[in-house]
Amino acid sequence: MIDKLCIIGIGLIGGSLARALRDASYVREIVGYGRSVGNLQQAMELGVIDRAEVSLPDAVYDADMIVLAVPVGNMAEILNALGSVLPEQAVVTDVGSVKGSVIAAARTALGTRFAHFVPGHPIAGTEQSGVAASLPDLFQRRRVVLTPEPETDVDAITRVRAMWEMAGAEVATLAAADHDRILAVSSHLPHMLAYCLVDMVVRHDDHRAILENSAGSFKDATRVAASDPVMWRDICLANRDALLEALRQYHTDLGTLVEAIEKGDGKWLRETFMRAKHARNGLNKKL
Ligand code: NAP
Repeated sequence: MIDKLCIIGIGLIGGSLARALRDASYVREIVGYGRSVGNLQQAMELGVIDRAEVSLPDAVYDADMIVLAVPVGNMAEILNALGSVLPEQAVVTDVGSVKGSVIAAARTALGTRFAHFVPGHPIAGTEQSGVAASLPDLFQRRRVVLTPEPETDVDAITRVRAMWEMAGAEVATLAAADHDRILAVSSHLPHMLAYCLVDMVVRHDDHRAILENSAGSFKDATRVAASDPVMWRDICLANRDALLEALRQYHTDLGTLVEAIEKGDGKWLRETFMRAKHARNGLNKKL
């Protein structure tokens, strides 16, 4: 059981973790740290946290578990501020969608305490942001990937794993570079496609008519374009190389599709769509 949990960034993910652990009676006290008093106040009113702090040293004082749930671009500044005030017994983990950049920042900021930092990423979420959108069952039967480094303390990993399991998640382990390469394709690329598609349509001369006549396919393919732009800017910049590789592969494949349509190559089109349809039908059981 966690005695004092400090969540830095009480938004969708931080708030959902707080709610899940409270429902599981796995934590005695939850302290939230954030920038805006309004957000912290809302978290208090919603009963997501027990106490709000706008001073980082006060927030983490005596905590045995500290969870960083801020956008990826803010992780380094928080880790730098945390370095000198980290309680001796505390394990630190994060929920960032990119692991390599957060690990590099933690290694620099935490020094010898880096061994007590367990990098993590819950593969669960919605296109909503903020504590009001947080859900106690967001992580139920969803995967959380931990990406420990060779020097990560085994007991710290066990404590972070137990926390996520109590929140309902299934915990897996990956090397950080593999995580970033895989998530570039499974999550970051679909977000880029959705943002591009919506932006293309709204800039089109006929955008009103296009939207009025849009089908379920447009809605299905673009839901995640409603996601927070700052969060996704940070993910793009932090996972630059892996994301560029995925985008270039997709660009090449789109080029092949354009050529097939130009040439009227119905055989190629049918075979490609058939292959994708079979694969997608198979995925329905797993998604
Ligand atoms: P969110 O709802 O916008 O919440 C982020 C929280 O961080 C806000 O409460 C914000 O508080 C706080 N914050 C931002 N900068 C801060 C700073 N410098 N110091 C203190 N607090 C700060 O975002 P989210 O969706 O929960 O995402 C949080 C993290 O989870 C990100 O790293 C993201 O990559 C990861 N993640 C997201 C999803 C998803 O689907 N959304 C899924 C998996 C992982 P203020 O209102 O005070 O700015």
